[in-house]
Amino acid sequence: VELVCVGTELLTGNVNTHTSYFAGALLSAGLRLDLETAVPDETDRIRDALRGALERSDVVLVSGGLGPTFDDLTREGAAAALGRRLRLIPELLDRIRAKFRRAHLPMPRANRRQAWLVEGARALENLSGSAPGQLFTKDRKEGRQTLVLLPGPGEELKPIFERDVLPFLKRTYRAGLHLATGTFRLTGLMESEADERIRSLVRGSRGKVEFTILAGGGLVEIRATARGRTEKETQAGLRRVRRALRKALGPRLYGEGEDTLEGVVGEKLRRRGETLAVAESCTGGLLAGRVTSIPGSSDYFLGGVVCYSNDVKVRELGISPETLRRHGAVSEACARELAQGARKKVGADWALSVTGIAGPGGGTPQKPVGLVFIGLAGRRAFQARRFLLHGDRLRIRTLATVRALDLLRQAL
Ligand code: ATP
Ligand code: MG
Repeated sequence: VELVCVGTELLTGNVNTHTSYFAGALLSAGLRLDLETAVPDETDRIRDALRGALERSDVVLVSGGLGPTFDDLTREGAAAALGRRLRLIPELLDRIRAKFRRAHLPMPRANRRQAWLVEGARALENLSGSAPGQLFTKDRKEGRQTLVLLPGPGEELKPIFERDVLPFLKRTYRAGLHLATGTFRLTGLMESEADERIRSLVRGSRGKVEFTILAGGGLVEIRATARGRTEKETQAGLRRVRRALRKALGPRLYGEGEDTLEGVVGEKLRRRGETLAVAESCTGGLLAGRVTSIPGSSDYFLGGVVCYSNDVKVRELGISPETLRRHGAVSEACARELAQGARKKVGADWALSVTGIAGPGGGTPQKPVGLVFIGLAGRRAFQARRFLLHGDRLRIRTLATVRALDLLRQAL
C-alpha cells in the first residue's frame, strides 16, 4: 500500500497528518503502509507520482486535490497516469446540486468538476463535503490493483476511508496475513541505549517481528509489529516480544500502548491511596501541569508552590537562608529542603522538587546551564538527584519534568 498526498501546502510548511492516520488505520486492519509521497498541486507532478506508484504497489491511496478550484488537479493527474479519460457523470452532478440546494446556496459553476469521474471508477459518497471519492480497480497478472482518490479535509476523508475503502482492502488484500502492533514506552535511557539493549531481540525476530524506535521529550518508544498466518500465531508472537522486552529493559519500561508517564505515576499513587505535592523552581509549574493533565488527578494531587524566587523559597517553604547562602538555590541541599518543605506545607505523602538552570543565560563553570537537582520526600525517606541535561530552555524544562516524574515512579 502506498500513499500520495497532494497539496502544495504540505511542501511549504504544513504538517502532513494524513500519513499517520492512514498508517494507523491500515495497521489495525492488518495492512501496512509501505511508502508515502507528497506532491504539489501540479498535474504533471501528480501524474508522475501516480505512475510510479502504480508500477510498484497493489494499492495506491491519494489524498487531496478533489475540490472545485483551479488548484485541485488530482482527477486530471490520475486520469493521465491511468491513460483514461474523465467523464462527467450526470447522477453525480445531480447529487452535488442537491447538496447546494439543501444548504440554500447557488451551486458555483466550478463545482461541476467534482462530478468528473475517471473512466471506469466508482464514486464514493462524501457525506461531509461536496467532492466524492473515487475507487478504481484493475486486474493484472500480479493480482488486482486499486487506486483510491479521497478528498483532502480529514473530516471528509476519514468517514469515506473507513466506510468504503478499508473493508474493501481487507477483503481483497489481507488474504491470510495478520499483523499486531505493540507500543512499549521507556524513560531514563537514550535512544541508542535502548537500541543496544534490544539488538539481539531484533536480530532474532527478523522476518517475524519488525521494530522501530522513536524518541522525544525524554521518552523513548519501541513499536513492535508481529506478523503471522493466523490471529493466534500473531498474538503469540507479540506476547513473546513483550516478555523479551520486559527482561531486556527492566524498570526502564514504564508503560505500553497509550500509557503516559504521568498517568502511570498517578495510577500508582491512587492504588496506594497516597498524595503528592510539588515545589517547582526552574520548571515553573510544568510538573504540576503534567500531573494534572490526567483526568481524576485530584484523587492524589494536592497542590504545590511555584517558588521561582529565593524569597518565596524561604517564606513559603521554609528553606533556610543559610542553605541558600552556602550552596545556592541550584543545589542538592536546596532540592532536599524544597521537597521536605512542600511535603510539610501541603500535607502530602510525597513531594517532588525541581531546581536548576534552564538557560540560555545564568550558567557558570561550576553550575552550567542544564544543571538540575530533583528532590523527592516521602514519609520515610528523602533523596535528591543531580542531572546535567542538554538542550534549549524548553527541552531542559521538559526533561527535568520527566526525570522528576520518573524518580517518583521508581520510588513507588
Ligand atoms: P477542498 O474541497 O476542501 O478543496 P480537496 O480534496 O481539494 O478539498 P485539499 O484542497 O487538497 O482537498 O485539502 C483541503 C484541506 O485539507 C487542506 O487545506 C488541509 O487543511 C487539509 N489537508 C489536506 N491534505 C492534508 C494532509 N496530508 N495532512 C493534513 N491536512 C491535510
Ligand atoms: Mg482543494
